[in-house]
Amino acid sequence: MRQCLSALVLCLAATCAQARQNWQTLSEHVDFIEQPAKLRFYDSNQTLIQGEQCALLVDAPGEFTQTEAFIGELKKQLRVPLCYVLASHAHDDHLLGLALVQKHFPDAQLIVHQSLGENFHLAHEQLNERLDGFVKSIALSLQRMEKLPDQEQEIWRDKIARAQVRFKQWQSLRFSTPDKVITQATELDLGKLNVELMPFAAHTQGDIAVLVRADKLLVGADMVDTLPYPGEANYQAWLQALEELSQLPVTQVLPGHGGVLATSDLTKPKVWLEAIVKHVQANPSADVVTLVETFPKQYQPQDDELEQRAYAMFLEAGIKRAKQTVTTKD
Ligand SMILES: [Zn+2]
Repeated sequence: MRQCLSALVLCLAATCAQARQNWQTLSEHVDFIEQPAKLRFYDSNQTLIQGEQCALLVDAPGEFTQTEAFIGELKKQLRVPLCYVLASHAHDDHLLGLALVQKHFPDAQLIVHQSLGENFHLAHEQLNERLDGFVKSIALSLQRMEKLPDQEQEIWRDKIARAQVRFKQWQSLRFSTPDKVITQATELDLGKLNVELMPFAAHTQGDIAVLVRADKLLVGADMVDTLPYPGEANYQAWLQALEELSQLPVTQVLPGHGGVLATSDLTKPKVWLEAIVKHVQANPSADVVTLVETFPKQYQPQDDELEQRAYAMFLEAGIKRAKQTVTTKD
């Protein structure tokens, strides 16, 4: 059997078929960039909001090859300067690529939730871990290459060399310190367009949703995903947030993963999160494995294998979290 080199180096070398991001213009001011279906659970969507003077970008792809392709397109799509970049929350698939965006747009101010602002060393640590991962991956690929027959080594030497060139550009990436830390609902003027930044502690300790009232549009990120990752959930606050968001005067809701949603889709994460809480509360003495096995099957994705695997992981994480944080009635 053929030896496998690191998948990471493959992507670093950008020789793997690059998955296409889908840019969609949703309204006068808003473009939505949806990650390809196969990356749905692993990389994030972005939103670009442009007023008459300034643009605001919400999130960046977390996978750096994707981020580079994204930045290339972003430069073409900008009609005004990129004044602000905002992290919807601190998960690496939304946050890390912003370091690369900051490198290309050094004047853009970084906006984060208070909880991330107060713990910004964690963002630096995440980024350093990612960069260390590249170094290890390249070293591992070199080791594996040496065990291949000579003709095959030739191809890999070339791919690894390209990965090294790419890595060199990323090696020195650093986040700049956040410029704006959001502690309460805040308006941001983009030039004849005001957007509202709404902080929550729901999907994580620090989420920001962005309301573009003029376009009846809400950027909800992972908080509004139809099957969100609940491993760090504040269940009660999250359910409350979904209730609050469903009252907003919007017609389009943009999730962190997957396609554009309608306001009525906000019931999907709500129903799923409630089901987890209810299941855990109803079986206070059951262990996580049993709770996963006995969880109602109706939420499980039907056909896609990737989706099923992600779902199983999300459910287990959500049940664990609920067992730790939700009070059970005896
Ligand atoms: Zn997330």
